[in-house]
Amino acid sequence: MHKRILVTGGAGFLGSHLCERLLEAGHDVLCVDNFFTGTRRNVTHLLDHKAFELLRHDVTFPLYVEVDEIYNLACPASPIHYQFDPVQTTKTSVIGAINMLGLAKRLKVKFLQASTSEVYGDPSVHPQPEEYWGNVNPIGLRSCYDEGKRCAETLVIDYVRQHKLSAKIVRIFNTYGPRMHPNDGRVVSNFIMQALKGEEITIFGDGAQTRSFCYVDDLIEAMIRMMATGPETVGPINIGNPNEFTMLQLAEQVIELTGSRSRVTFRPLPSDDPRQRKPDIAKANEILDWRPTIQLREGLGKTIAYFENYLRNNEPS
Ligand code: NAD
Ligand code: UDP
Ligand code: UDP
Repeated sequence: MHKRILVTGGAGFLGSHLCERLLEAGHDVLCVDNFFTGTRRNVTHLLDHKAFELLRHDVTFPLYVEVDEIYNLACPASPIHYQFDPVQTTKTSVIGAINMLGLAKRLKVKFLQASTSEVYGDPSVHPQPEEYWGNVNPIGLRSCYDEGKRCAETLVIDYVRQHKLSAKIVRIFNTYGPRMHPNDGRVVSNFIMQALKGEEITIFGDGAQTRSFCYVDDLIEAMIRMMATGPETVGPINIGNPNEFTMLQLAEQVIELTGSRSRVTFRPLPSDDPRQRKPDIAKANEILDWRPTIQLREGLGKTIAYFENYLRNNEPS
């Protein structure tokens, strides 16, 4: 069925892929973004599409539009960006969620919230099932993001209980792929950029900490499947790739795939940096019949190709 779909944060990394997929499925897409971390360049290829509309707007302010579904992704996602203006980060998650939920309530339309594995904080349960309440520092440097996202989950669940809204929460684990920011400090983009430029690969701490990386196409598929579920499915549901790697292993793969001569160097571990992170995706598997299909090697290959092209076009040598 053809729909008009709002994607907040649609000019960002994940949002731009989501807009693309929704257009491919034949929907009209309204992309709303304040371009804090997203760019027009991420959606330039969509601007000529007659079903695509781009609106510059900050979700901390009310938005009056008419749509059939809402994906709420607006929020800076990397520590460098969300710690740049932490008060604005909390406002984006909390006030942004209130506004977009208010919009969904007025229109009586489905709503999907992009939450995060960071709601588990530095987890003492591993891997993390949705029932785990998390271990989050309320006053740390990451709190504006973690607590903002936790509060957004609270708002979603209360709009469901109190206003009978059909809303859903997905908890996204580390995701990578083309259109990640080259300079936002996230490990996959950092390592690839460093390897391509022949710079030292910066491992924070001893490199034994783990993450599990999901390729963007797999993640978008799960989000779309989640939105398609009936009102009984609210979540939260973890989505991510459960294959776990240490940062040292990631560095080795990036060096190998880029054929780089870069060497690794060790830097201090940032505060509150989780030791391990790996999703338990049994629920996504059961409810959405979803599991990731793209292995790290393949996904890294596509991401490296994107950054090679990015460097060719943006940094003349
Ligand atoms: P991103 O920074 O590329 O995208 C976020 C987008 O939101 C950007 O385009 C930004 O300009 C926009 N934005 C920020 N504040 C806004 C505001 N006040 N009003 C309107 N737009 C605003 O990050 P991403 O990786 O694409 O993340 C998208 C969503 O997914 C975020 O909500 C993030 O928390 C969540 N998430 C991402 C990951 C990941 O690994 N990429 C993991 C967990 C959760
Ligand atoms: N809102 C919006 N667009 C709409 C409807 C509501 O941006 O079409 C915002 C508005 O700022 C409001 C918030 O969403 O304050 C929450 O709406 P709700 O109806 O839940 O509560 P209200 O504050 O209006 O009682
Ligand atoms: N990291 C690293 N080198 C870098 C950037 C990050 O070793 O250049 C580490 C970071 O300390 C963390 C892991 O890689 O342990 C993942 O970091 P990222 O910021 O990508 O994601 P998050 O910590 O939010 O999971």
